Amino acid sequence: MGNTTGGLVCAHHHLYSALARGMPAPPEAPCDFLSVLRQVWWRLDAALDLDIIYWSAALGAAEAVLAGTTTIIDHHESPSCIEGSLDAIAAGCALVGVRVIPSYGVTDRWSNDGRLVDVSPRDAMSEGARRGLDECERYINSGRPAMVGIHASFTCSDETIAAAADLAERTGVGVHVHVAEGPDDNSAPGRLGRLARDNWLLVHCVGLRDRLPGTIVHNPRSNMNNSVGYARPARFPNNVVLGTDGIGADMAEEFRLAYVAGRSDDIGFSPETAWAWLTNGWVLAPQSRDDLVVWNYDHMDSPWHLAFSTGTRPLEVSIDGKPVVKEARPVSFDLEEIRCKAAEQADRLHERLAA
Ligand SMILES: [Zn+2]
Repeated sequence: MGNTTGGLVCAHHHLYSALARGMPAPPEAPCDFLSVLRQVWWRLDAALDLDIIYWSAALGAAEAVLAGTTTIIDHHESPSCIEGSLDAIAAGCALVGVRVIPSYGVTDRWSNDGRLVDVSPRDAMSEGARRGLDECERYINSGRPAMVGIHASFTCSDETIAAAADLAERTGVGVHVHVAEGPDDNSAPGRLGRLARDNWLLVHCVGLRDRLPGTIVHNPRSNMNNSVGYARPARFPNNVVLGTDGIGADMAEEFRLAYVAGRSDDIGFSPETAWAWLTNGWVLAPQSRDDLVVWNYDHMDSPWHLAFSTGTRPLEVSIDGKPVVKEARPVSFDLEEIRCKAAEQADRLHERLAA
């Protein structure tokens, strides 16, 4: 019995989506996975600028730490504002005091004249992908923890995928990539197979049938929300971790969702399996294990208790020994200011999307 844990890890986030809540309805209602991307996320990421990215990251980081999450592994795309975007995310997280491991997710789905296009493996690398790789390289060379991002193989040429893998190899970091989230990306194993390494983060893997080296990131809430099916992560020999795919960073909640999603597929699924996925986050971010979270619940170390206990909240959070939350309130940042500034930026973002 215990009411303390280390800091939790969100192994796949999109901090830029924090301001998506309340966005105008898309012109056409999405009818499948690809149209969700086209109608919602690819319109949203094209409308981002540095102010929106910064305050979105600050709000997402504040929500994370108030849920006991002290490291965020972020995957970012902002095709109209690439240079400096990873610094804006890092600065937003630093305002709160949360660790972030960012990546810029490269893609060739934007033509050099700014149109959304279908991509063939044989196409040449686009200017946007080159700039995205440069942004990753510049940030990695600053010495801060980071990864090289790829959106997904189905929106990238072979040239871009190979260049991203090469950059990761040269700089000694892993690649953070969506894999077989929906049926449009079921060719991913063939496209990535020769290049993937054990330090890659393979996100979703719902339709993955082959073995790829890397850590698999399971995002149960997002998978349900996008109606892509259950990934059945327990079938893989790989290490599995949990992410939110941009829907907050409440990892105790994501653990409960991972448990109940597993249980809906298999009556024998144990919360201990979902707990192992949650705590595997410390393999990716070992410093988080040494952070301290004191919870309002006495059985935080019991998967069988926690799976059925909703509403657990942190009372205290310390990161690197520095108090960030006390008595369930932030003490190292101004939550009201962040909410206020984020709301202003959300209004700007939503106006752009309504135009
Ligand atoms: Zn994602």
